[in-house]
Amino acid sequence: MSATNLPVGSFVRIAKPELQTLIDQLRAMGYRTIGPRLSQGAVIYDDVDSVEQLPRGWVDQQDGGFYRLQPQEDGAYFDYVVGPHSLKNFLFPPRETLLQLSREQDQWRLHAPAPPDPPLAVLGARACDLRALWVQDLVFVEVEFVDPAYQARRSNLFVAAVNCRRAAATCFCHSMKTGPAVVSGFDLALTEQDDHFVIETGSERGGEAVAACPWTPCTISEIEAARRAPRELERAMHQRAPRERQDLHKGPPLRSLDVTDLRELLLNNLEHPRWESVAQRCLACANCTMVCPTCFCSTVDEVTDLTGDQVRRERSWASCFTAEHSYMNSGTVRKSVRSRYRQWLTHKLATWIDQFGVSGCVGCGRCITWCPVGIDLTEEIAALRGTMP
Ligand code: SF4
Ligand code: SF4
Repeated sequence: MSATNLPVGSFVRIAKPELQTLIDQLRAMGYRTIGPRLSQGAVIYDDVDSVEQLPRGWVDQQDGGFYRLQPQEDGAYFDYVVGPHSLKNFLFPPRETLLQLSREQDQWRLHAPAPPDPPLAVLGARACDLRALWVQDLVFVEVEFVDPAYQARRSNLFVAAVNCRRAAATCFCHSMKTGPAVVSGFDLALTEQDDHFVIETGSERGGEAVAACPWTPCTISEIEAARRAPRELERAMHQRAPRERQDLHKGPPLRSLDVTDLRELLLNNLEHPRWESVAQRCLACANCTMVCPTCFCSTVDEVTDLTGDQVRRERSWASCFTAEHSYMNSGTVRKSVRSRYRQWLTHKLATWIDQFGVSGCVGCGRCITWCPVGIDLTEEIAALRGTMP
């Protein structure tokens, strides 16, 4: 069946090969299509114009400081979880030019801003990614001083999200109430089944995109099956005893975070000896802040060419784990790794709430996986609570 458009809230079924038609249609609608790709042993987001480029049949095993891909036989498109990239890499890129000047006949000429990027369509974002997007909106758009580049990219963003059927051992979205079900903020929400996708439309343009694919209306039982998949996963995540250590890289999710009075726990324990203990292990490498989908610190540099006639103002990601980050006229404020780790965790889980009204953590687990020494914020909070197993 086809139609000019499908209303918001429709549930339709498309055969798996029609995923290519969906990608083609998004490109025909003028989008640059981004999706999961295999690169250097991980699933990242990059340009995708063919389903052949998707990491079909691969799943990830994750734990503290551990990430491995392995093939699985059922050939599912989306049973890996989250990789080191997030939507942050595209909406708030690691490096971007804010301003460009050139000197011509002793006059400085301001260059016109670069033409806007083509609109992005992202395939494969997860529930925690959508929550992180909303958290970054609060930082960049829902504030007095709006970031125009972020806002331009964000306002045109098309999200084809995917309901998770599987979680990594590092995921704790169930604790943060951010997943695994995709419930809002999407244009399309896909649930993968054995030979088809169930697709829910979340916007008019989502309805336009999927209407171009050969689709059939879903039966009630197909809709129920699609809704059941992330709910069953969430139940399994809750049931699993926290921090059980058996079957490290094969078992179902092991982590959870007790968020009860978390802000007060952190702010009432600023001198707890655990901060020194984590500082003994932390390398202050900043990996956790680079992969975190909500961390938003940046720095601005003026860059000139060797003649001094071309000047660019560039913004790049920064991290509270570096000494320079807290440098002021009298020197570095947070001199110790202890104070930097404490700054990061108390901001992420406590003072972020004072600043933006929500937690800065969406429970994606990236900071646990990509920490080279496996520092795990769920473990650090359990230690502060005195509930370490
Ligand atoms: S703090 Fe860690 S688990 Fe929380 S959103 Fe950032 S990377 Fe994900
Ligand atoms: S917690 Fe881990 S990833 Fe973060 S700065 Fe320390 S060593 Fe690096």
